[in-house]
Amino acid sequence: MEFSVLADAFSKMESTTKRLELTQDLVELFEKTPQDVISRIVYLLQGKLRPDFEGIELGVAEKLAIRAIAKSSGSDNAEKKIEEEYRKGGDLGQAASKILEQKEQTTFMVQDITVERVYENLFTIAKLVGSKTQDRKMKYISGLLNDANPIEAKFILKILLGTLRLGIAENTVMDALAITFTGNKENRKILEHAYNVSSDLGKVAEAIASKGLQGIEKFEINLFNPIRPMLADRVKSEYEAMEKLGNAFAAEYKLDGERIQLHIEGENVRLFSRSLENITSYYPDIVEKIPKAIHAEKVILEAEAVAINENTGDFLPFQELMHRRRKYQVEKAVLQYPITVNFFDVLYYNGKSCLETGYKERRCLLEKIVKEDNFAKHIPMTIINNESEIEEFLENSINSGCEGLMLKMLDKPYQAGSRGSYWLKLKREYRNELGDSLDLVVIGAFFGKGRRTGKYGTLLLATYDDDNDKFTSICKVGTGFTDEDLDQLYQILSNKVTIKKNPKIDSAMEADVWFEPELVVEVVASEITLSPIHMAARNQIRKDTGLALRFPKFTGKIRLEKNAEDASTNEEIMTLYKGQKKVAHSKNLM
Ligand code: AMP
Repeated sequence: MEFSVLADAFSKMESTTKRLELTQDLVELFEKTPQDVISRIVYLLQGKLRPDFEGIELGVAEKLAIRAIAKSSGSDNAEKKIEEEYRKGGDLGQAASKILEQKEQTTFMVQDITVERVYENLFTIAKLVGSKTQDRKMKYISGLLNDANPIEAKFILKILLGTLRLGIAENTVMDALAITFTGNKENRKILEHAYNVSSDLGKVAEAIASKGLQGIEKFEINLFNPIRPMLADRVKSEYEAMEKLGNAFAAEYKLDGERIQLHIEGENVRLFSRSLENITSYYPDIVEKIPKAIHAEKVILEAEAVAINENTGDFLPFQELMHRRRKYQVEKAVLQYPITVNFFDVLYYNGKSCLETGYKERRCLLEKIVKEDNFAKHIPMTIINNESEIEEFLENSINSGCEGLMLKMLDKPYQAGSRGSYWLKLKREYRNELGDSLDLVVIGAFFGKGRRTGKYGTLLLATYDDDNDKFTSICKVGTGFTDEDLDQLYQILSNKVTIKKNPKIDSAMEADVWFEPELVVEVVASEITLSPIHMAARNQIRKDTGLALRFPKFTGKIRLEKNAEDASTNEEIMTLYKGQKKVAHSKNLM
């Protein structure tokens, strides 16, 4: 397939953020795509080469890309010209395209540039290791740029640098696949199931393109391929929980650690985070010790890894665990930050999916599979029959250093990839006025003064608008930070600075610096108020008005394990806003 077809489609999609238009553009692209290329197209559309859990990263630095463009442009002084162009427009792909347009047309025939060739070359670049890697990468890149026209060059560079941001949500890709290959958008539900069990949209696309719906319906769980996790809705009170769950349900402690999906076959262990990143290397202790506690040939389990105080056995807060997230000296971190692994679900057992099995049966099976010891534990669970039992169990959980409770319906299946009402979370904070903690995305920052000079003193935060795939500003936050937090945030965020505001960011407030909307932090606030400035839930409650947080405060939690799309949504904020009004109203009546 000619790469120009894809580059033209990218150009078209770049000029719109409307979901319906994007879907139509995708349908047109898929119609032109041969079956054996479609998975590659789907990965490239998302700026990837393979599904996230395979961890294949291009990692090409801007400097190297500039050298490669200069080499292909054949003009003198090219590096300087490119840098100038880049500074003006803020987009290196665009700068390359401009510079290459000026290149004199060569008279000899250039090699045809196909999607297959671009993909293979990018894949080779991503895999290169060892000596002279930089030179070899450059050779591949300039080889591609030599044969590419300016528009093609622009998109090749954007993929290489990780700056291709077409704003296409996974659901939009699935809509377009359903329309193209089944003629009916409603079939997306079936595609979703396949995606939820495989976490691999390319594989789903290939199956529907080659075998139609039949190929999709047969999708099964594969050991060592992560399953998209089930999420929980929130409730504010024991009363609300009883109303939603009925008279008998399970309550488990909600531990404050890292969610881990464990895939185990004998001594082979692979671990995935909540955002499906392969995190096996951070937990050599799990790899070593857990297989001894497992009574199954092949199994997929879910657990919460929690840092503990080795002397007292108490659970420690989430931040302690994040010290494990390092590339070097992992062994040292294992000794410094000991953990326990607290199991709460089983998704696959000896070749069979457990997703359709009810919670109660899964829990029984889990207790049979995992033999408890000092390291492997079952998350404490009890069956609740009335409000006072929840109250008591909640107090116990909080006294043991947990965040609250997870409440689960007894007979319901595991709903991979969705936030349904079969699981509810009841956190301690939800019982306060608002006091609720929110996960927000850092979109910008303001430079600090005084002790904070040279760091970001205040952050601009956003909610996720999942209908439009945007990050909408909701507050500035400048309190709750320790000096250590500020150093750590500066370190993480300085890698995310962008010259121009990412089009997915919706903010009328001008920050000193803008970031790629990627990092999630936790904040608490006293109240949600209407705001003429902020963009969260804009026009939803009142015209030309959004929602903002009053007295927001950073809780100390940088949620590295969350994707920006996992942040609190505008819908959640509106529910909280309305709930808060109800409380105020009933207080006034009293
Ligand atoms: P939240 O991150 O606030 O949406 O809460 C959901 C998270 O709670 C999950 O992703 C898990 O990491 C964590 N968690 C802690 N205890 C449990 C439990 N018993 N069952 C399910 N998830 C739990």
